[in-house]
Amino acid sequence: LPGANAHGEEGPAYVGNLRKGELRGIIHINKENCVGCDTCRKFCPTDAIKGGLGAKHEIVDDACVYCGQCLIACPFNAIEQMSFVDEVERVLDNKDRICVAHPSPAVRVSLCEEFGGKPGELSTEQMVNALERLGFVVYDCNSSADQTIIEEGTEFVKKIQYWVLGERGPEVDEQGKHPFPHFTSCCPAWVKNAETYHADMLPHLSTAKSPLQMGGTLAKTWAAKHILKCDPRKIYFVSVTPCTAKIFEAARPEMNTAWRYLVANKDLPKDTPSFQDIDASLTARDIAELLRRKGINPLDMPKTRERGPLEVYTGAGTIFGVSGGVMEAALRTAYFALSGEELKNADIEVVRGHNNAIVEATIPVPIKALGGKTFDVRVCVVNGANQGLKEVLNRVRVDKNRYHFIEVMNCPGGCVNGGGQPVQPSGTAW
Ligand code: SF4
Repeated sequence: LPGANAHGEEGPAYVGNLRKGELRGIIHINKENCVGCDTCRKFCPTDAIKGGLGAKHEIVDDACVYCGQCLIACPFNAIEQMSFVDEVERVLDNKDRICVAHPSPAVRVSLCEEFGGKPGELSTEQMVNALERLGFVVYDCNSSADQTIIEEGTEFVKKIQYWVLGERGPEVDEQGKHPFPHFTSCCPAWVKNAETYHADMLPHLSTAKSPLQMGGTLAKTWAAKHILKCDPRKIYFVSVTPCTAKIFEAARPEMNTAWRYLVANKDLPKDTPSFQDIDASLTARDIAELLRRKGINPLDMPKTRERGPLEVYTGAGTIFGVSGGVMEAALRTAYFALSGEELKNADIEVVRGHNNAIVEATIPVPIKALGGKTFDVRVCVVNGANQGLKEVLNRVRVDKNRYHFIEVMNCPGGCVNGGGQPVQPSGTAW
């Protein structure tokens, strides 16, 4: 694509906001530190690591989905992730830019751990206050997770309307005619895994972008116009994420929807160089590093704050951080849309759980259009691609009607155990 990237440089040598060579280094093994213990290969969901006991290991980049599970599992700190910390630090000093931080649900339960806090302790306010102290405007990713659910849940409802209720028409057809089962699409490692190894599943994936990508687009369109009241080109959008695969996702060349929308809408001149929706991605470890460089400890930040207009969200957005959360949030939306009633108990506990690689459940939903007759929605949660993914995909290949809705999270337990989270003492990551 034409146009400058986040490095301010132009030309076809770039993929999204990364140099082509950099894309190959999102996750890499430092051979100096690799002792050939072979631990990493057990955690890789795509067999992308070459090596054996006693040999220096190497990642085959085309096969890697950049999930970073090998990185947090390596007992010798031999696996590294590319970092935007230096670049973000520089841009924060540039008063002509508006730096927007977009913290994911899972980072608020991990960041303080880097500073000696209790693992898993919720510290939303301290995190946001610390990000503001760094100089960011904070746009909470929980808010765009809510938007993802509206998109993903509505798409699922349209499939029910099309395939189960036999409804037709422009309102239903476009999204509804995609076949069951409906797969979630918010995990970029799963999406790359499907693109590379399971292309037959692509027609089943939701067309919704991930919360971070929706957030980047909304920040440079809606928020730039109505909240920040600035030229969208001034915004430097930084995802703060538990996920190393998000670095890859943000760099995908098609992730420049704000630019395409603004140019098509004539909000920007048509010769405006392309820019990405997300300019830089910082993992939980990276943001901790940036805070340390600036002498800011989130544990010292106030535990209260008044939420701004970019921090409005529901519990549905919050539970995106754990396995089963996206499914649970989408089912709540679908239940309301199909039955016309709120769930009596919003907790759909049968889809939760970290202990099983595959979780299956049947959720009876009364359908208003059928006079309240119940339809059984069969769902499945893949809790870690390394464990249950191949089995579930084989089941789908044998029987496309076995499930209506499947959540796939690459990382066991979901994003709380993402490859960008603080590294746990050896062997306790999950
Ligand atoms: Fe990233 Fe979450 Fe997917 Fe892991 S499960 S690769 S952290 S989106």
